[in-house]
Formats: sequence, structure tokens, C-alpha cells
Amino acid sequence: MHHNGNGSGNRPTPGDPIEEQELRGEVTALLRRLIACDTSNPPGREAQAAAVLEEYLTPAGLECRRVAADPDRPNLLVRLPGNGTGPSLGFLGHLDVVVARRDDWSVEPFAGIERDGMIWGRGAVDMKCQVASTAVALATLAREGFRPNGDIMLLLMADEEVGDAGVGSTFFVEELPDLCPDFIVGEGSGERIVTADGPVYLLDCGVKASASATLTVRGRAGDASLTDAGSSALTELRRLLDRLADYEPAVRIHPDLLPVLDALGGEGDDAQRLARARALHPGLDRILAALTRSVIHPTMLDVPGPQNAIADRAVATLACILVPGTTADDLESELRDALGEGDYELEVVEPKGGLISDADTPLRAAIDRVLAEYDPEARLIPALGYGFSDCHVMREEYGSIAYGFIPFRHGDPMVNLETKHGADERVLVDDLVFQVIIALGVAREIGLLEHAAAPSSAARPDPAAPADLGRTPRRPTASSSEVASIPRLPSSPGRTATT
Ligand SMILES: [Zn+2]
Repeated sequence: MHHNGNGSGNRPTPGDPIEEQELRGEVTALLRRLIACDTSNPPGREAQAAAVLEEYLTPAGLECRRVAADPDRPNLLVRLPGNGTGPSLGFLGHLDVVVARRDDWSVEPFAGIERDGMIWGRGAVDMKCQVASTAVALATLAREGFRPNGDIMLLLMADEEVGDAGVGSTFFVEELPDLCPDFIVGEGSGERIVTADGPVYLLDCGVKASASATLTVRGRAGDASLTDAGSSALTELRRLLDRLADYEPAVRIHPDLLPVLDALGGEGDDAQRLARARALHPGLDRILAALTRSVIHPTMLDVPGPQNAIADRAVATLACILVPGTTADDLESELRDALGEGDYELEVVEPKGGLISDADTPLRAAIDRVLAEYDPEARLIPALGYGFSDCHVMREEYGSIAYGFIPFRHGDPMVNLETKHGADERVLVDDLVFQVIIALGVAREIGLLEHAAAPSSAARPDPAAPADLGRTPRRPTASSSEVASIPRLPSSPGRTATT
């Protein structure tokens, strides 16, 4: 890793072999301890991981505060206080992990095993790696006496993976309504994807909207020991679900994906450009497929029985992950299209989420510059994320500019896509060190910014408002961005008027 020391005296230079060796040992040890806290959700028990972090961070001089609805399941707020003249930055993480089916693993999932230059275990990728690396970055800054202009924080949430216990991010923002970090870096994307056009990282500026739909079919009960009694709701529901499985949703390219097509799509119309971008890498193929259409899966089935009667009622629940701006009406007509003729009832819940942070901000510029320093060949391309994250809650409640970005410089992106929420989740120690270095760089860049205007965090975006689909996207400004002072932040992270 190359680093041109640019003169700031006591700044640890991660390119320096000794400094880097120290960071490596520190972040590896911390991640192994965090993995050894089994925070499988349910039941979570995030207090163990919070305690490990407090023990690590407090001696560095950092304030740690538990924000807990349930003492077993705290959120943790860690703060390196600023002098109040600049924007604040929060690294957003979660302490819980999805459950692990131990039999499927080739190592113990909660032992924090180090093997072949990797740390193995549940949470290694999603997302204790970033929790550990941002904690080490913050401790490093605190120990060297770095005094940022705005607060630099860790916001470490409980109950992100399930999210129904009322103890995680929703409780956190309710307890601390005025925290309002100007900038948030959380999970979402960050795998380095090597294409024929060079390596790229996607920056997740907002996630798709989520909705669910209930499909109910009514039949006529009858004796299941006769060949032709009644009329089966279950058989009819199966026919409808078969149609849904065969359905090819229309491709819709949200304007916030145009930077990806501009960067990777070559010439042609949008459909041709999308096809070319998808063909560049199996990871891009999978991610871009999900981002450009409604993704609809039946995920639950309810047939009350009894076992010896023809089913007179069958209900399927459909998970619907939608291009931002899709309304409940849009979803309903798409589903009716897919299901075709039939006697059924359809109930659609209003989509949630779909807020998008502006891609042209000092945070984006800071990430761009730091990445350009440590991975000069690669390009950072603003895009969307395909799955839900707590970044959404921060956009919605705090009006924060929030990006999902955990950089994996060295690992194979397909390994991440396959193993998070699956078996044998693991992270390269080299990636862990890279994450510390990037977090340090971004924190320093943001910590030196000054307020040009007070950001308005009071504005609440209207989640129901469709994204401005007619907007002309701005081109990335890469390293030319000047980060010396912060311009007025957009009052709403949902698209308001741009250009
Ligand atoms: Zn996660």
C-alpha cells in the first residue's frame, strides 16, 4: 500500500510498515473478540459486544454511552467531541448478527478463528468488521489528540437484522432526537469489483423501497376423501404463484443508477448500457438485476386446514422490494398484471424506504479522495443499495446524508455475496486493515471541514413522495472536489430540486 506522507507531523501513516503492523494487530484482536460475543438475533444480547467495545475505547479517552430500552440489548454511542464549528460524522454499525446453522460451517462460527490470513465467523462481513475497524480508527484519532471540528461518532445499533424488538435504531433516534449527524457511513456496498474497464466500488446512496402484499384465495370446503369435492383454494393459489414465478418484471432504471451506466455501460440506449454493465462481472450482474426491477418473492404461506378437508382459504405473503418511487398503486397493478385472470383478493401495503441521499456532497468527495490515495486505479460510482439498512432510519429521522460503504479492497466480492447470512462468513485481515485506513482518512477529511451554513436537519422528507425521476444526474467530480468548506446541505436527503 502506497502512501505519500503529506507532512502532518504526528499523523500515523498507515503506509508505514510499523504503524500498519500495529493497526493490524489491534483490529484483528478486536474483531476476534467481537465475533466471540454470540450476538445472534434473536435473541441478540448485544450487551456483550458493547462491553468489549467500551473496554477497548474508554482507555483511549472516548465517551461511550449505552442507549438501551433493554439492558441486554443496548445501542452504543461513542463520541470524539468536536469543537462545534464543523459538520458531524457518524459511522453506523450494528452489533447483532443473523443466526448461524453451526452444522453448515467448516469452523466454529463464534470462535473468532484466524486462518489463511482471514478472520472467520458470523459477523466477519456483516458487519463486525466495520464495527472493529471504525472503533480502531476512532481510538487512533483520540490517542493522537485529533480534535475535529464536528463530532466524530460511532453509532452501534442493536436489532438491525430482525428489527422488530423496538430496541434498535428506532429506539435510538427516539431517545436522541437532536443528535442529527450531518454525515453517516454505514453498510450497503463497498466490494471492489474488477471489470474489463478497471476496478470499481459502488457507493450506496439509498436503498430500494420495501413493501409486502397479501394474496388471498377462497375456495369451497369439501370432503378430502372424495375425488371431486369442493374447490381447492390451495390449488388455485399454486397456479397463481406459478404465474408469478414466470413473470418477468419490467426493467426500470432509476436516475440514481445512471452514474453506473455512464461509467460502465459504454454507448447505446439505457437497456444496452445496462446489459453491458451487468456483463462486466457476476457481482454487478446480480446487484444491477436486483436494482432495476421489482423483486417479488412469496415468503410465507397460510392454509388453516383441517388436514382432511379441501382448503377453502389459502393466503400467500409476498415480499416486494421496489425501485424507489414505486407507489402502492403501481405495485398493485404490477401484481395484477403478473397474476393474470383469477378469483383472488390482493392487499398491498404502502412501500417504505426508498429515500436517497444526494450523491454530490462533501462526504462523497472525502471518500473519493481517500480512496484515490490508497487505491488509485479504482473508481467510486454512486449507486443504490439492494437491501435494507439502518442508513434509512438516519436519513428519515435525522435528515443525514448517509452512504452505505464498507470497502473490501482485496477480497472476492462473490464470497461476500455468498457468505453473509450464509455459512463460512470470513474477512481478509488485509481488508480489515484497509477499512481502518479508509475510516481514518474519511474521519480526518470530514473533521477538518467547517460549517458554511447550518445544515437543516429539521426537514422531514416525505417517504411517500416519488423520487424526482426527471432529474438530470450530475457527473461524479472525483478528485477535483474541493473539500475545504462545506456548502449548504440539502434540506432533505430525499430528492428535492437538483438542477
Ligand atoms: Zn448488516
